[in-house]
Amino acid sequence: MRKTERELNKVDAQSKDDRDCARAETDHPSAAMKSSAPRHLIHRQAGSALRFARRIRRRLHWAVAPEPVILCYHRVFSPERDPHLLSVSPERFRAQMEIVRRIARPVALDDPSRLSARGVVITFDDGYLDNLQNALPILRALEIPATLYIATGNVGAKREFWWDDLERLTLGAPNLPKILRLEINGRDFEWNLEGNEADDRSWNVLSPNERRPRQRLFCELHALLRPLPAAEQEAVLAQLRAITGTSPEARPLYRGLAESELKMLAAEPLITLGAHTVSHPDLALRSREEQHAEIAGSKAQLEHFIARPVEHFSYPYGSQNDDSMETCAELKLRTAVTCIAQAVERGASPFRLPRLLVRDWDGPEFARQLATVSRS
Ligand SMILES: [Zn+2]
Repeated sequence: MRKTERELNKVDAQSKDDRDCARAETDHPSAAMKSSAPRHLIHRQAGSALRFARRIRRRLHWAVAPEPVILCYHRVFSPERDPHLLSVSPERFRAQMEIVRRIARPVALDDPSRLSARGVVITFDDGYLDNLQNALPILRALEIPATLYIATGNVGAKREFWWDDLERLTLGAPNLPKILRLEINGRDFEWNLEGNEADDRSWNVLSPNERRPRQRLFCELHALLRPLPAAEQEAVLAQLRAITGTSPEARPLYRGLAESELKMLAAEPLITLGAHTVSHPDLALRSREEQHAEIAGSKAQLEHFIARPVEHFSYPYGSQNDDSMETCAELKLRTAVTCIAQAVERGASPFRLPRLLVRDWDGPEFARQLATVSRS
């Protein structure tokens, strides 16, 4: 929507340039009337040269002073499967940070009105252990600040986030039955998994091929579970664990950060910790009271863990509405970020800041994506 508006603005700016040039040609009607044909031709050429120069100047301005961009990461890790493409390998993360250091200006998320041209803010959602183990050493080596948003209900938990558990229990479990029956939120569901395929670890939700039975199961269960409260999600995962004989214990590096690890991160001068709700709900689907409990609850829990004020927030799944934004303002948070893939425009609301979701891109692709979003 905003992009469309912006594109329209661009068209407006372009036609304004054309109008300016047209005016330059007609500002001196007497000269134009007196001019012979060749002089008129020269005048027209000067006009188009002026238009061309203005276009170049505008492009150069974008190249020299791109708008600030907030990057959204989740994991710095090489998983067996990454169906939602949320992990960046440590090698690629380093390459991406080296590019940020080289062509941009890494800045901490502070007052968005002070985010300046070429500024790039690094953020991480959820609070995975690999942020500490894999990302922090690279950020430290390159002296790049970052903000980590913590879903506080998972702090110290030995279990996985629900979407990761779902991945291992559907795409990863070797022993799913041919007919899978689950009760979800009081309703009975059945999936036919006959002709079950060998595990295709490279599959992700953007893969163009027709989905195989397990991949369909994963996608359908994800869509069914996402709107549910955490207890209902857990009830479904518990059925899948019982059917497949899987332990609830998190796989190595799939657990969230523990309280002691948050304290270590809070002591890092480069790291800012922000809140990401308690149970990671889809906020826009919740009442204002529920949203308040989740946002205020995670802020208070995190402040208790790290003994310092928490001023920044990230909406789970990027999902928010007016109630969410007003709640953030009431709680005196300074910023709240979404997942709208745009640069930060001048005058952007501090409670609806856009972010570019970073994939496992190599250096040149990362540089291209960064340039595209900061000039789009
Ligand atoms: Zn999240």
